[in-house]
Amino acid sequence: MSASSQHPVPAQPTAQATAPAGGPRLRAVLEGIPAYAPGRPAAEGPGSFKLSSNENPYPPLPGVLESAVAAAGSLNRYPDMACSGLLAALSEHFAVPVSHLAVGTGSAGVAQQLLQATSGPGDEVMYAWRSFEAYPIITQVSGATSVRVPLTASEEHDLPAMADAVTERTRLIFVCNPNNPTGTAIRRAELERFLDRVPSDVLVVLDEAYREFVRDGEVPDGVELYRERPNVCVLRTFSKAYGLAGLRVGFAVAHEPVAAALRKTAVPFGVSQIAQDAAVASLGAEAALLERVDTLVAERARVTAGLAERGWTVPRSQGNFVWLRLGEDAAAFATACEREGVTVRPFAGEGVRVTVAEPEANDVLLRVAAAFREGR
Ligand SMILES: *Cc1c(COP(=O)(O)O)cnc(C)c1O
Repeated sequence: MSASSQHPVPAQPTAQATAPAGGPRLRAVLEGIPAYAPGRPAAEGPGSFKLSSNENPYPPLPGVLESAVAAAGSLNRYPDMACSGLLAALSEHFAVPVSHLAVGTGSAGVAQQLLQATSGPGDEVMYAWRSFEAYPIITQVSGATSVRVPLTASEEHDLPAMADAVTERTRLIFVCNPNNPTGTAIRRAELERFLDRVPSDVLVVLDEAYREFVRDGEVPDGVELYRERPNVCVLRTFSKAYGLAGLRVGFAVAHEPVAAALRKTAVPFGVSQIAQDAAVASLGAEAALLERVDTLVAERARVTAGLAERGWTVPRSQGNFVWLRLGEDAAAFATACEREGVTVRPFAGEGVRVTVAEPEANDVLLRVAAAFREGR
């Protein structure tokens, strides 16, 4: 890819007030925000699989479910607003002070709080593209300007180009590692070189939603990187490896000023007691949960090898999903999957992201992928 094609793309609305005839005035930045497209549900019936949202295919472990059910007995009460039980458990688990932690309604919720804390009109928020589709939406809601730096031809973050694109307006940079939807991960030396180049007053958010699925030993643990770097914030979630997507609980690890800003921007009582207690129980059941993660990682290897055997080029994924760069065939491939009972996530004109799930589901994907190639 040539240097000129890697120019960041500022895409932004102007801040005109809008006054719909007779209705309440809404902020102009809301215009043109693409609605978040949730993964489509699976078709009805047995043999149907939802591989469109990177969820964990396994139901909650018995102990986790029991904690959630027990917490449901107190639904007439507000939850613990400070999330003290969960913070204490996380503090011990990651060996970080409680004052360096903040819990929120999923890591997407925490990401939105980070924008509220750092960015507004006139500011720039940078991220690679394509990456997590919530980034452009929450950036636009904040009123800040999105600066998107294209992925490299090998579907990876172009960190040198991102460092070059920093201006005095840059307030926050999302680094999605591993990257959703391409699965590619950034290695330690490269990430450290980048962090060394970013000014200390710019917050770098390492979004590690898929950290537990990483098997490349060169990919750094953000929680180790944040310790020496006050401008680094790590996002983690219970939604993917821990299988609690429906409960909405994620957290940030960051130095005190950032963590304190997250407490200020939190929705009061946003994280339910069910979510808090289930998250604590999940940390306690980590061995069993990580065994499931190992199963999914083994399936990821099988799916990747199977696709390669069938003539597909798939980036090496460190997440619980694979990326098929189908270009104009993305929609047709999604339709072909749907016909066989598998719902995937197409990005029109670009590619299709498919969650790695239980073996039966992955077998259907491999079958469809083989037939699709033969048909072209
Ligand atoms: C799934 C995902 C999240 C957020 O998940 P929550 O359910 O909001 O915790 C964050 N970042 C990336 C890259 C994701 O894929």
